[in-house]
Formats: sequence, C-alpha cells, structure tokens
Amino acid sequence: MANSKPHVNGDASTERIQVIEEDKTFTQELSQQIERWGLRDTGFAYNLVAVFGSQSTGKSTLLNRLFGTTFDVMDETRRQQTTKGIWMCRGKDMSVMVMDVEGTDGRERGEDQDFERKSALFSLASSEVLIVNLWEHQVGLYQGANMGLLKTVFEVNLGLFGKGNTGRTLLLFVIRDHIGTTPLANLQATLTADLNRIWDSLSKPSELKDRVLSDYFDMTFTTLPHKILVPEKFEQEVLSLRKRFTDKERPDYLFKPAYHKRIPADGVAMYMENIWEQVQSNKDLDLPTQQELLAQFRCDEISAGALAEFNDQAKSQKRPIEVGRVVEGLGGLMKNWRTQALARYDKDASRYHKGVYARKRADLVSAIDSTLSPLFLGQLKNLHKSCLSTFKKELLDGLKGDEYSFGGVMQKARTKCEKNFTEAATEALVEGTDWSWEEELGLLKEELRAVGDQCRKDETKKMINQIERGVKKLVSEPVEMHLTKPAPDMWDKVLKTFKDALTKAENTYLAKAKSFDCTEEENAASLTALKRRAWIVLRAKIEEQTADQSILGKLRNHFEERFRYDEEGVPRVWKPDDDIDGAFKKAKEQTLELVPLYSSIKPIDPELEFELPSEGGDDLANEDFDFSSSLTVLSDTKGLDLINKFRRDADAYYVEAKRSTVSSIAQ
Ligand code: GDP
Ligand code: MG
Repeated sequence: MANSKPHVNGDASTERIQVIEEDKTFTQELSQQIERWGLRDTGFAYNLVAVFGSQSTGKSTLLNRLFGTTFDVMDETRRQQTTKGIWMCRGKDMSVMVMDVEGTDGRERGEDQDFERKSALFSLASSEVLIVNLWEHQVGLYQGANMGLLKTVFEVNLGLFGKGNTGRTLLLFVIRDHIGTTPLANLQATLTADLNRIWDSLSKPSELKDRVLSDYFDMTFTTLPHKILVPEKFEQEVLSLRKRFTDKERPDYLFKPAYHKRIPADGVAMYMENIWEQVQSNKDLDLPTQQELLAQFRCDEISAGALAEFNDQAKSQKRPIEVGRVVEGLGGLMKNWRTQALARYDKDASRYHKGVYARKRADLVSAIDSTLSPLFLGQLKNLHKSCLSTFKKELLDGLKGDEYSFGGVMQKARTKCEKNFTEAATEALVEGTDWSWEEELGLLKEELRAVGDQCRKDETKKMINQIERGVKKLVSEPVEMHLTKPAPDMWDKVLKTFKDALTKAENTYLAKAKSFDCTEEENAASLTALKRRAWIVLRAKIEEQTADQSILGKLRNHFEERFRYDEEGVPRVWKPDDDIDGAFKKAKEQTLELVPLYSSIKPIDPELEFELPSEGGDDLANEDFDFSSSLTVLSDTKGLDLINKFRRDADAYYVEAKRSTVSSIAQ
C-alpha cells in the first residue's frame, strides 16, 4: 500500500505526497513538500497537470513515463485495487506538479460520484492541463463510464469558470492501446462529437446557454501504442509526448500561459486546501473569492515575515535613542530597513490579488512607520538636547577671552547650532512619511533665544560689575581728599568728580554694549543700574569718610588748625594776657559750622546737583535704597551727638591752653 509520507531516498525531488487522503482529508504537509521539491519560490514559473480516467487504464504508468514521477502502478500479478485519493509528485527536472487522481471513476466501481465530482472541481481549479486517459475501444461508447466522467468535468467547470470565462483549461485526450486501424482524426472526430453532445445536454444557466465548449476548454488529442504489444513504439511515442510538456519553443507546447491559474507557488498549498474545504463542505466554489482569501492570508503571512525582520533591525536602535543618544546616520538605517522590508513583501506578495496586495502593503507601511516614528521623534529630541548643549558650550568658550564681540559669538554659535540641527534632522527624515522637524527646530530656536538672553544678562551684569569697580577707583581718592579739606564748595568738588567718573563709565558701557544686540529698554535699564550702583559706591566712600571717628578727627583737625596754630601755621604759646577765650570761641564756631556742611550732600552750583531715577535697573542694581534720604549724610541726632563729642574734645584743648599759661607764670 502506498505511503502518504514522502519517499526518502536522498532526493527530495522524487518524493511523493498524498494530497487528499482516503478519508478525504487534506494533507497538512503539502506546503512543506512544495518547499522540499524546491518549487516554493518559483512564483508563477511552475506548471500543474492532473490526470483523469477510468481505473486501471494506465494513468499512473503514463504519468511516470511522461514526468519521471513515482506514482504507484498496479501490480499485474496481484491486481489489487488502488486506494482513492489524490497524489502529487514533482516532475523530474521540471518545475511541474503532477496530480494523479485515483479512483475518480466511481461508476466503474458502482459507487456514487461524489468523489469524482469533488476531485474534478479540485483539479480544474488548479490545473493547467487535464489529461483524460481512455482506451481506444472506449471511444464512441457515448454511454460509457468515461463519458459520465466528462459530463461531471464540464458541469463542474461551468460552475467554476462559467461567468467570468477566465481560467481556460487544456483537455489532453490520450487514447491508449491505439492499434492504428482507425486514424487519430477519426477518433478525434468521434470524441469531439460526443463531447459536444455532452455539452449540449448540460443544463446551463440561461445567461450561459449560448456558450460553446470551446469557450472554456482547449482540446487536443493524441494516441499511444499498446504498451505490452509494441513496448518500443510505446516508449518512443511517450517520449515525444513528453517533449510537448517540456519544450516551450514547440508550436504544440502544452503548458500555454493562458492555462495557468495564477496561484503563486508559495500559495498553492493553502489555495488547494481552501478549495478542498469548500468542495468538501459542498459550498459554492467561487474562485475569485478564494483567490482573494488566499491573497489576504498569504499577504498577511508575507507581511508578518517582512515585519519581523524589520522589527529586529529597528529594535537595535531603540535603546540608544531612549537613553538620549543621537544615532549617527539613523535616517539612512531607517530608510534601509524600510526599503528592505517592503522589497521582501513585494517580492512574494505582488503576485497575489492586486487589490489585496496593495491594501496589505499600505498596512505594512503604516506598521513600519509607526515603529520608526518614535525613533525619529526621539532622535529629534536628543538632537535638540545635544545641539543646545553644544551651543551653550560654544557660547562659554567664545566668551572666555577679553577680546570678543558678544553679538558675534552669539550669532556664530546660533547659526552653527541651527545648521547642525537642520542637517541631522533632514538626514533622519524618511521619504514617504509625513514626518517633519520644523516644529522641533522652532522649539530649539526659542530655547537658544532664552539661553542667549540669559547669557547676555549675565554678561551685562559682569560688565557692569567691572565698570562699577572702575568708578570706585576713580572716585575713591579724590573724594577722600575733598572731604578731608572741608570747604563750602566741598560737595561741588565731590559731585564733579563723581559725575566725571559716571560719564566715563556710561561711555564704557555704551561702547561695549554695541555688540550685545540689546534693546533700547535693556540699555536704558543698564544705564540706570550703572547710575545707581555708582551712586552707592560714592555713598559708601562718603559713609566711610563720615564715620564717627573719621569725622571727629576731621573736626578736631579743623579746630586745632585754628586754635593751636596762628595764621602763619606756627604753634601758639599762650601768654597770660592772650585772649584765649576769644580764640577758643572763634575756632569752635568755625568748626561747628562744618557739621551742617557735612550733613547733607548739597552743592553750591545747582548744575552739579545729582538726580537718580527712583526706578529701573532693579535686577542689575544690587541694593535697594531711597535716593532722597541718601542725600543726608548725618542725621540731626547724629549731628548733635557729634557736636557734643567735639565740644568735649575742644574743652579739653581749652583747659590744656589755660594750664599752659598758668605753668608759664609759675616758672
Ligand atoms: P491506473 O490505475 O490508471 O493508474 O493504471 P496503472 O498505471 O496502475 O496500470 C494498470 C495496469 O495497466 C498495470 O498493470 C500496467 O502495467 C498496465 N498498463 C499500463 N499502461 C498500459 C498500456 O498502455 N496498455 C496496456 N494494455 N496496459 C497498460
Ligand atoms: Mg494509478
């Protein structure tokens, strides 16, 4: 008994498979077998042939001769019945799948024609050439069993291809044991007449009633000599018939492209299984629907395969992107993966139903793009970050030295940053997607602006600090000098010094600020801040010079110069009749006049008066203070306190002067 498992003799091409088993189930191994035969990737470049005919008419023998197949042949000595079923082999050295349909002719065995009908449907739905095998002596027996078989074939074909008239099939009639007395032409004429008779007898749907047999079938006829009686002739004729299956160049080549059912080789197994299922459950076999279903299934499978490989590739860059890296050449990689995946899909799927192929391709594209899109967005985000930090670093580096133009440094860093971003973002873009990076660039630009503004503020502050130190240097000594030599125009001198220093400071600022791209307001604020800070510097100096001990010293000096020295600056030696009281009083009064002078900053020349705006430059000016009260140097209480302290000192001098006269008398 035949084995449904493939023959294993080292050569897979001679393996045989029982496609439909005796219990009418469909094998689960056809797909694998087609692959083992090496036919899976042949696309449409394969052929499919099936044989039909009565039991023991030498069908399997013929197929084995024609295609080098290994179908079971009935053993003469035992004459056992072959099992029902459909077998398949690969043609030796040919891309041909050969189906041997066993037990088709149920009549001969007195069985119902169920299997005959089903196998006819199955064979016609897939085969290009249907070999109808019959004995010469069966020709003309219109009522013969084989004619019933043909009637079934025609009926079934009408159901399958009736409407669309697509799917032409070649019927090759092989008349066996041809003795030669009746020429082929006569046999052919008889057969043709019978076939047309059968065709006419079919009950056809009204819209198909005018169709003729040749609308659906091409028919060709050939004879073979008696295998036992003239074996050499038999072999010779079989060999020449074989050539009609192999030689594409021959005009009588049998596998004409028009007969091909256009099922890609990698879908044949599934297609056949679906067909068989439909046939088995007695459902209407609608081939276009079957092809579409097959296309859906296969395109899904092919797409899943293409996607799996793609996902592996895409996964490699997922981590790096997630941890914030900018992946060099990501766009190139993504384009490659995408193109490769689509090429993988197209290679196999494009052979299937066009609409389904296109629809599934669109699905695949969107699946691919939805995986790539986060990579692209991540890359943009990382790019944004890295460009920003490069920008900051470049700003810092650029602003390191003393000689730089702030605006220049800023502009250069910004241009470079935007250029780098744009280049890398463009690289990451994949054609055919609706991705864009302009929005991210917009965000980056905003951030650059913010960083730039902050940096400019810092720089401005730094510059103002520097200028402030300059002011301090310019103001310090002269102010100390002016305050040490009190005179009515003392404040005029102080303010003059101050204003000169301020003007200088302002000019320094304006010169430097030119490259800062500052707005008018910013400049105004900076200048106000500068004024305030300069004023604070001045006030601090005044404070220092009018601190208790310091001012007391100044008063004391002033007094001493007047009381203890004469007009020529010579120290006085008091004599008893000297007017000590008068001199004391005068010097004391002159000195006390200084207290109100020191008390408030008040120049004689109103032009020199200084005004400070009450607001502005706040974040640049370090302290908060009230300008008008800053004009007061010594408060009233402080003044009184000072006067008291000074009086005590002065009194001491007076007592000392008095004592000196007493002691000079005593001598
Ligand atoms: P199948 O049942 O149609 O597949 O027939 P087989 O190929 O198994 O052959 C049945 C028997 O017919 C075998 O004993 C063969 O040797 C014999 N046989 C094969 N070819 C021919 C032929 O051309 N003429 C005759 N008379 N017998 C043949
Ligand atoms: Mg057989």
